[in-house]
Amino acid sequence: MTEAQTYERVRSALHDLKFLTASDSLDALAQQAAAEHWSYPAFLDRLLQAELAARQEQTIATHIRRARFPFVKTLDQFDFACQPSIHEPQIRDLATIRFVAHGENVLLLGPPGVGKTHLAISLGMAAILNGKSVAFYTVADLLDQLALDARADRLPSRLKSLARPDVLILDEMGYFPIDKRAAQFFFQLVSLRYLKGSIILTSNKSYGEWDSIFSDTVLAAAILDRLLHASTTVNIRGESFRLREKRQAGVFTGLPNHASVATQE
Ligand code: ADP
Ligand code: MG
Repeated sequence: MTEAQTYERVRSALHDLKFLTASDSLDALAQQAAAEHWSYPAFLDRLLQAELAARQEQTIATHIRRARFPFVKTLDQFDFACQPSIHEPQIRDLATIRFVAHGENVLLLGPPGVGKTHLAISLGMAAILNGKSVAFYTVADLLDQLALDARADRLPSRLKSLARPDVLILDEMGYFPIDKRAAQFFFQLVSLRYLKGSIILTSNKSYGEWDSIFSDTVLAAAILDRLLHASTTVNIRGESFRLREKRQAGVFTGLPNHASVATQE
């Protein structure tokens, strides 16, 4: 077999084995190996590393797509200086994603606009970069989905699919009341993921106000009990970041509280 035939057979074998990046990189790497006198293992190492890097990138892209984030934000884009109620080392520690290994939860509480969703997505992104799978739902969307599922007798399969991702983000708990059937579903969901799959939950309500979200206070207590058992709570205070940006842009000055936001936006 000639050199050219061997090369072509290797390239096509890599392709058939679905080592597509290695197959594409073969030519350039073989030339570089010859020019720079690489050892055989060094050449093979470079070829396999190229394949692995491409696969990791694909996995990350797939996980980001499947997570269905409403927007992608990372921790680098979070300005800790303008949110003094947040202890930066605590968030940086959460971003190591150790909590996911133990199925622990993160609860981000605070008024609108203080960065809860941004932080939840940033932690989700950090999880994905650590090879984990993530699913993002607003509680409102999930409740709509559950109502449809209940009618179509699909609740058990929904529960299964929500149990699967390593991290489940539930955004904006507390803006809508949760009826008894949805509360029972939440209880099942939290129980199923308990110490196995992490939940990152954001809410504008403090724990004391959870009774007002759920019509059933016993279920509310049971859900909170499981959510909080192995968890980190981040209480965020301060003014809305959106509001602050507008204030700095000179759109208005001196807004006393959040109640005024609706009329100004
Ligand atoms: P919340 O979920 O608490 O209502 P968001 O996370 O949606 O607030 O934040 C509102 C907007 O302000 C988003 O675009 C977010 O990226 C931005 N934001 C909030 N806090 C910060 C911050 N400390 N640094 C950078 N951007 C921020
Ligand atoms: Mg939000």
